[in-house]
Amino acid sequence: MTKDQLPGEKDTMCEFCSVELDKVANAEALTGRNLGLLKRPEKRINANLPVKMDDGSVEVFPSFRIQYNDARGPMKGGIRFHPMVGEEEVEQLAFLMALKCAVVDIPYGGAKGGVVVDPSELSEAELERLSRKYIETYHEHIGPEKDIPAPDVNTNSKIMAWMMDEYERIEGEKSPGVITGKPPKIGGSEGREYATSLGGAFVLEEFVKHQDLDKEGLKVAIQGFGNVGSHLARFLHERGFDIVAVSDVAGGIHDPEGIDISRLFDLYEENGDLFEMDAEEITNEELLTMDVDVLIPAAIEDQITGENVEDVEADAILEMANGPITPEADDYLAEKGVPAIPDILANAGGVTVSYFEWVQNIANEYWDEEEVNRKLEEHMRDAFREVRKVKESEPGDTTWREAAYIKSVERVLEAEDYRGNVSE
Ligand code: NAD
Repeated sequence: MTKDQLPGEKDTMCEFCSVELDKVANAEALTGRNLGLLKRPEKRINANLPVKMDDGSVEVFPSFRIQYNDARGPMKGGIRFHPMVGEEEVEQLAFLMALKCAVVDIPYGGAKGGVVVDPSELSEAELERLSRKYIETYHEHIGPEKDIPAPDVNTNSKIMAWMMDEYERIEGEKSPGVITGKPPKIGGSEGREYATSLGGAFVLEEFVKHQDLDKEGLKVAIQGFGNVGSHLARFLHERGFDIVAVSDVAGGIHDPEGIDISRLFDLYEENGDLFEMDAEEITNEELLTMDVDVLIPAAIEDQITGENVEDVEADAILEMANGPITPEADDYLAEKGVPAIPDILANAGGVTVSYFEWVQNIANEYWDEEEVNRKLEEHMRDAFREVRKVKESEPGDTTWREAAYIKSVERVLEAEDYRGNVSE
């Protein structure tokens, strides 16, 4: 039995969550708080989903929904379709969702879902039946005031539309607030598509101000030119940063004078790759170790690791992907004094506009793009300032990640306290 276990309880602890929480257990802002409550999820739900395939056979897809914590509001988190997704990964992501929603101060808890499937091997009809089956199976556990799913890896607005439709069919009433990330024509929000990137741009501007730097001409390298990376490149370019390198899964390009991002957008749309630009071709590994002012991993997890962290030359890192720096590399960067703005703050613009979508659905009132972006800006800049205050008030060298954890854990435990869930 571990020290956080209750007598008679089998070990239900989330190991990753426990290790992460222990890093901030001695923070001044958390004095007297018992973090044990956050070391395990509230509910782990799983089910095998039988789905009729086009040829008449039936395939069974394992699936999960982990509801980590709902002290601050309904559970919130995406559903991932991936052949390698596992319960442990979903649990970690659910924990991080709870912290992410708390750090930007939106009234949600944290959850995450997953289905073990390679969606590229399904026909559109099979994908629709699988998406509907997920909702049929989990509908009792979700709802606009209970748990609100959203897109994640390999799920998109079309899948969210099927899922919402299935939920409404079962409930027998309209309920657009049950899911976010829907197409705007059926209750999705303006600005959702690029919200993660715009939120990241606001956070970076705040960070640059805090460092007393002039953003004009700061050199930035971005790994990933998908939804997040490409829009972020555009927003930063518009704000005066020099994007000197970008990459996608096939490799990257480098121009020390700064890449013309609007031209790159046009060429990328035409050719589907980055290499039509007149720029030096580089590998992803080279991009990650470039001497730039800001390195932005915006592709996939585990990119800066124990293997390459010693070669990282960037002055600062903005984590737009989820978990792009491994804990080992994170420790090294902290030791070296390289600031890394953590994912739960940097990429929280997406869930913030998901929250706006839900508010609009519930009020049955829709905002224009300008209003959405103005509210997003307020939330993101406030969140950065709150984290900065923690960083500055904690003794010692508190990292940005630790400061973001401290702020979010403090908010979640405060809510638990009001609910009477914290022992005297
Ligand atoms: P995406 O699929 O649109 O784009 C991913 C990009 O990464 C592509 O350019 C792809 O070519 C590149 N890539 C894939 N594998 C790579 C590899 N091995 N090396 C280098 N590049 C590689 O995904 P996205 O929506 O842009 O999400 C990117 C990251 O941001 C993910 O970690 C995601 O979880 C995170 N995120 C996304 C959102 C959102 O709103 N889309 C919100 C929060 C966090």
